[in-house]
Amino acid sequence: MTTRTATLKGGGTIRYVEVDDPPAGGMKKTFFTPDKKQVVQFFHDAAAARDVNRLARLEAVVGRYNPTLDPTTGEYFRKLFCWPTGIVVAPTVGVVCPAYPQTYFFEAGPFSGKEKKGKWFSSPKLRGYLPASELGDWIKYFQICLKIARAIRRLHAAGLAHSDLSCNNVLIDPARGDAVVIDIDSLVVPGVFPPDVLGTPGYIAPEVLRTLHLPLNDRNRSHPCAATDQHALAVLIYEYLLYRHPLRGPKIHSATSAEEDEMLAMGEKALFVEHPAETSNRPTGLTAAYTDFGPHLADLFKRAFVDGLHAPNRRPAAVEWERGLMRSWDLLHPCAGARCPHKWFVVAGPGSRCPFCGTKPGRVPVLKLRRQVKPGQWMPDGELVVHGSVGVFPWHAFDNAQTGERAERKRLGYFGVQAGQWLLVNEHLDSLTTESGNRVPAGQAVALIEGKPFQFSTGPHGRLAEVAYY
Ligand SMILES: [Zn+2]
Repeated sequence: MTTRTATLKGGGTIRYVEVDDPPAGGMKKTFFTPDKKQVVQFFHDAAAARDVNRLARLEAVVGRYNPTLDPTTGEYFRKLFCWPTGIVVAPTVGVVCPAYPQTYFFEAGPFSGKEKKGKWFSSPKLRGYLPASELGDWIKYFQICLKIARAIRRLHAAGLAHSDLSCNNVLIDPARGDAVVIDIDSLVVPGVFPPDVLGTPGYIAPEVLRTLHLPLNDRNRSHPCAATDQHALAVLIYEYLLYRHPLRGPKIHSATSAEEDEMLAMGEKALFVEHPAETSNRPTGLTAAYTDFGPHLADLFKRAFVDGLHAPNRRPAAVEWERGLMRSWDLLHPCAGARCPHKWFVVAGPGSRCPFCGTKPGRVPVLKLRRQVKPGQWMPDGELVVHGSVGVFPWHAFDNAQTGERAERKRLGYFGVQAGQWLLVNEHLDSLTTESGNRVPAGQAVALIEGKPFQFSTGPHGRLAEVAYY
């Protein structure tokens, strides 16, 4: 172990600890700084030093396109991205990045010390090797999907694309519901020649594989871009919610060559395992279906894997996944099944039961949210499935409240049962008002009675809630 000094672009230096056998990925090897708070990563490829496009990309990524420098939302996105903070020019070309938080390394079991790459958690076989304490409940995977969608939405909003979004380039911590997108150095940056990256098998969009035989500069060749990220994002979300791959089914496309079979199954002939009409790729004994997670996610999965699988411009954008996951999050309910492996499910309507274990919930109170479009005229605007650990937050109570990185996460009320009656207990709603016009001050409660709506607030943008029981 020797401490060495690397030179940064712009003139500074950074010290790192050289070891004989550093962690290495496909592109880079990694050394820690002496305090272990940062890493210095050098590209394997020596030609990188002379690649003006790579340097131009890195400069844009570290500088003007860097969402972690935003004064208001930068801190939020520093948790969702492991974003490079500097460019190394000597002894060879590399990047400086924050070290991943300790929670992204396995603490116990046979993989102690290894990074928690997403692939460990999305395959039933690999999950079998992990200690139960690392696996997390299903609701945590939901939270992880939401965070990944939000991170990719932010990248795309800046005009960037990840180009290699996959289970290897997202670390997840299901015990805490956290996710971080890594390997940010091969981004597609506006105005700079795209990186020579294809993506990771299983996540590469069908059109990229289908046109792979064409020369790089052919107009018909598809390159990694926001639309290919949208495919990879949909695959990741499907894998984390269903623990299976959306395109890997029993259908064989080439009986003679495994390589050709894979190229066709993920490319030109890619077919959703749950395609509603074409069932030739459907595995036997599928448990939950993509339609079991409520109307928002059913629609998004259909657009990603039925309508948009071979039509990139029909795929849902990351922002739509973010919104759909947020709305579906409000439909989650704990499962009472004693042996339920997932412990949560989506209440999509009356008669919903847990798709993982079949357990039916008891009576479930549901708030049907309404937004005022004109005085006295209310439009449907989301639903909130009520249970003991859910709260009312500003984005439920007001139709103009921010969500995501700008959200105010102050709980305004909570739910409980008294003498068999569900109640909403007011904590911080200034003008919670019953149907008959009575104000419910903080510390008091409104009963959730079918046919008795109430307003979270009588002020501007306050939503109305109708009460239903499923
Ligand atoms: Zn269940």
